[in-house]
Amino acid sequence: MRPPILNPLFADVTTLPGVGPKLAVLVARAAGPRVIDLILTLPSGVIDRSARPKIADAPFGALATLEVRIDKHDPPRSPRLPYRVICSDETGFITLIFFRGKPDYLKRALPEGETRLISGKIEEYAGARQMTHPDHIADPKDPDAMPLFEAVYPLTQGLTANVMRKAVGAAVARAPRLSEWQDAAWIKRQDWLGWNDALMTAHSPTSTAELSALQPARQRLAYDELLANQLALALIRRVRMKSIGRSIVGDGTLRAKVRKSLPFKLTEAQENALKEINADMEAPERMVRLLQGDVGSGKTIVAFLAMLNAVEAGAQAALMAPTEILARQHFETLSPLAEAAGVSLEIVTGRDKGAARSEKLGRIASGEAQIVLGTHALFQEDVAYKELGFIIVDEQHRFGVHQRMALSEKGPRPDMLVMTATPIPRTLALAVYGDMEMSAIREKPPGRKPVTTRAVPVERIEEVIAGVKRAAEAGEQIYWVCPLVEESELVPLTAAEDRYNEMRERFGDRVGLVHGRMSGAEKDAVMEKFHERELSVLIATTVIEVGVNAPNATIMVIEHAEHFGLAQLHQLRGRVGRGVKPASCILLYKGPLGETAKARLSILRETEDGFRIAEEDLRLRGAGDVLGAAQSGFPEFRIADIAAHGELLAAARDDARLIIEKDPELKSERGEALRCLLYLFSRDDAVRLIRSG
Ligand code: ADP
Ligand code: MG
Repeated sequence: MRPPILNPLFADVTTLPGVGPKLAVLVARAAGPRVIDLILTLPSGVIDRSARPKIADAPFGALATLEVRIDKHDPPRSPRLPYRVICSDETGFITLIFFRGKPDYLKRALPEGETRLISGKIEEYAGARQMTHPDHIADPKDPDAMPLFEAVYPLTQGLTANVMRKAVGAAVARAPRLSEWQDAAWIKRQDWLGWNDALMTAHSPTSTAELSALQPARQRLAYDELLANQLALALIRRVRMKSIGRSIVGDGTLRAKVRKSLPFKLTEAQENALKEINADMEAPERMVRLLQGDVGSGKTIVAFLAMLNAVEAGAQAALMAPTEILARQHFETLSPLAEAAGVSLEIVTGRDKGAARSEKLGRIASGEAQIVLGTHALFQEDVAYKELGFIIVDEQHRFGVHQRMALSEKGPRPDMLVMTATPIPRTLALAVYGDMEMSAIREKPPGRKPVTTRAVPVERIEEVIAGVKRAAEAGEQIYWVCPLVEESELVPLTAAEDRYNEMRERFGDRVGLVHGRMSGAEKDAVMEKFHERELSVLIATTVIEVGVNAPNATIMVIEHAEHFGLAQLHQLRGRVGRGVKPASCILLYKGPLGETAKARLSILRETEDGFRIAEEDLRLRGAGDVLGAAQSGFPEFRIADIAAHGELLAAARDDARLIIEKDPELKSERGEALRCLLYLFSRDDAVRLIRSG
């Protein structure tokens, strides 16, 4: 149950003075529907009214606060004309302009003959100074009536800065005094304010510099958010660790056979990853580890050896691939290795029907099938294992924390290894996968030829097509990636379908098309044809990003490369260069390029290191973009900025793990306060775990 002291913060914004139902809709659009959403929306700008020039010195176009004498009211002769008030100081004149101005109000606010402070934008009209609808009018005898600085918040159509500022101000005033959840020594060392004071400070900037993510008050609030994130992950991790796993230690016999059959030696990076995985499997707690490694870094053999460890220990192992065709590819690659080890390999996908399927399920249930490969079909209800000890989930970088939490809550589960070919920066990995252990293969097997990468302006597309033609005639295969399926008026990008039709005229039926709106089976059929070399050119959207291995493909053309993210381009490029022939990647772009697009293309030409590319991607874009916030389960941070607060995130991780070690049920005084923190940042599902754990 949420601590009652927090209830006012979780009330609807309509409970704030001046926010009615109509306004609430706009406020909700700009910040969120609850009072806490306003509190956690920090200013994006600041208006500085501290400049107090004389009229003659006030620059046109700038904001200024003037002390003026009200000389004369000049009401309009027609209601369509503005109400004018002439003012002056010893240096000159300025006219205040009010459209549909109410004379009564204006006479009261600006009495003739008196002095007033007015603040607003200085405009020029026929060479003279004027100010339309001053933002503020105040009596100089009451200096507080004129704020020197005003916070500016993100707005939405129809919502004015003043209204939003008042709403946020009222929300912040609601923030109750809460006991400190941060470690006292840490707060002192950082020289941070308490939560309430930090909120006040962050909401009242007096310069643009104070909007920086590195401003201490913002750092404090960001750390709160990061700690909430990490604490939630640590709680998930703890529940998982407590769930009964089993200790898996194989005798090494099967692995020795496979290693002997390999034409290569494992790299040090592969050996290290295996050591970490084996140690997890041996530990009695349930393992959940993430294995990151670029495309082609050799994760598959690592996965297979880990599965053999389970088989040696008498358990079954399963590997789940995201698509049918990938499952089949794993089956092809692993079959000879399984043979070398003398273990039985089974594949189960959605395509298996009837008697054949029942037979397979029978072999899985009896334990005869020692290693099972497949798609989601692996975990359908009717698939029963004799003793499933180890699961590998491949290419699942879009595996959200909520899904993992759901798994954690379901009681005992086999050890799990998640593999992804999309390296993500260390800081992001902490924020998303902080509940998992992590291994990375950063080094590629020796002897890889680099993929030659070139950026070519789209004006030279005919040359590129000619090159593609030559390569196709020489028996090579080409991927051609286009951004969208249909020409859209809003986004005039080359459509895959148009390109396909055009290429068919040149290449005939050796051209295939695959895009995201096709069914899984349709996609697989085309990919399979490409894999079987029945097609020379595969026109595709980014659906091929995760995918099929076609070692004979040597050229990757990416049209409108300037519209793709860095990591995505890298991922696409990874589709080629898997065979013996030298490969190339052609980034077709439409100029002129912006700075970011230029930087992206040049980083790609510079390096093929996916980890480095991921870091650069984070630097060039925001965290949410890097992962594709909507699908990735990436936590949406309100205040923290992963690119700027990476150090704090690492500290929050350690902090959270320590807290859970010392006070797993958050029962201490600090623990109680930390529960509040989890609620403030809507990590309450984690609070639920405290009890289920
Ligand atoms: P990933 O799954 O990480 O994309 P793969 O496991 O498919 O990469 O490996 C790519 C290729 O490299 C495969 O053909 C594999 O046999 C080969 N390979 C793996 N490890 C090594 C190694 N240590 N030395 C040489 N080749 C290797
Ligand atoms: Mg792979």
